[in-house]
Amino acid sequence: MMRKSKILLIYTGGTIGMMKSDEEKYVPFSVDNLLKYIPRIHQLPIDIAIESFEKPLDSSAIGPEGWLKLVSIIKSRYNEFDGFVVLHGTDTMAYSASALGFLLNGLNKAVVFTGSQLPISEVRSDARDNLITAIEISASQKVPEVSILFDNNLYRGVRSTKKNVENFDAFDSPNFPVLATAGVNIKYNLNQVFKSEKEVSFFKKVNQNVASIKLFPGMNFEFYIPMLEQPELQGLVLEVFGSGTVSFNKEQFFSFYKALKHAIERGVLVMAISQCLKGALDISRYEASSILLELNVISGRDLTLEAAVSKMMIGLANFDDTKSVKDYLIKNQCGEF
Ligand code: ASP
Repeated sequence: MMRKSKILLIYTGGTIGMMKSDEEKYVPFSVDNLLKYIPRIHQLPIDIAIESFEKPLDSSAIGPEGWLKLVSIIKSRYNEFDGFVVLHGTDTMAYSASALGFLLNGLNKAVVFTGSQLPISEVRSDARDNLITAIEISASQKVPEVSILFDNNLYRGVRSTKKNVENFDAFDSPNFPVLATAGVNIKYNLNQVFKSEKEVSFFKKVNQNVASIKLFPGMNFEFYIPMLEQPELQGLVLEVFGSGTVSFNKEQFFSFYKALKHAIERGVLVMAISQCLKGALDISRYEASSILLELNVISGRDLTLEAAVSKMMIGLANFDDTKSVKDYLIKNQCGEF
């Protein structure tokens, strides 16, 4: 008889495990309460163990500390389990899934994030389907990546973004096909699954000295100069227009240009990504991009903001010199490009 797959379910919080308080606000409850709503979960031919954050959190409160807590749980139980499922709020799920994609370097087991738009305690909730499908996908061991399962679609974590607060299809990976779809059967898109050539290792540090600036027509660049002059600043993600055009030029916005140039000269790594969801940067196409070339800004190609900031935070923390960080940023680590 084949051995049953063993899955570790890690509960961090989020709407999936919330219920209405007396003041009609959603508040998190404990993991034991959560699983009571799926009494038949143990009938799956899968061994499921559970770990929970001490205090379940709304995902707006999950950042580097929560990411590293997840890494430490997964690392300490890596050999014991065939796969992992992380229950997480949707608001920052794409950030956590992106960060874990980079932190779990060379991952060769599935880490599937999921959650729900309606709490599991509500009759019409999407939680039950999401959770069961995520467990089945993780147990199948077919997608050894960090992914997000939502509304029957499996997305690569480092490619995903939250797109909808209303409908059940809350996520998308606009620049990459889905890794699996669940209907009567779960159909895997195996050609698209990322195959790591590295041995698994676990990054343990995140550098929070990273900022991002989203350009918009008419913005007052002066506001951002003090930020560029912060001595602690080490990384900057610039969200530029379309295929890589920018609204600052040397003549009109000289002080901003100068502050950006100085920041780059003292070692701040600046990476540009597009505000568009689909397609990649091409900073050689328009005259209006030339300043990015002149300043030697790193092209973030088709990265999402979530992947760009987390990659920057993890690259800066885990490599010592600027050249190694830059090499890390430029290279495809886990299918993010
Ligand atoms: N505010 C919730 C959270 O992200 C939303 C959700 O889970 O869908 O924790």
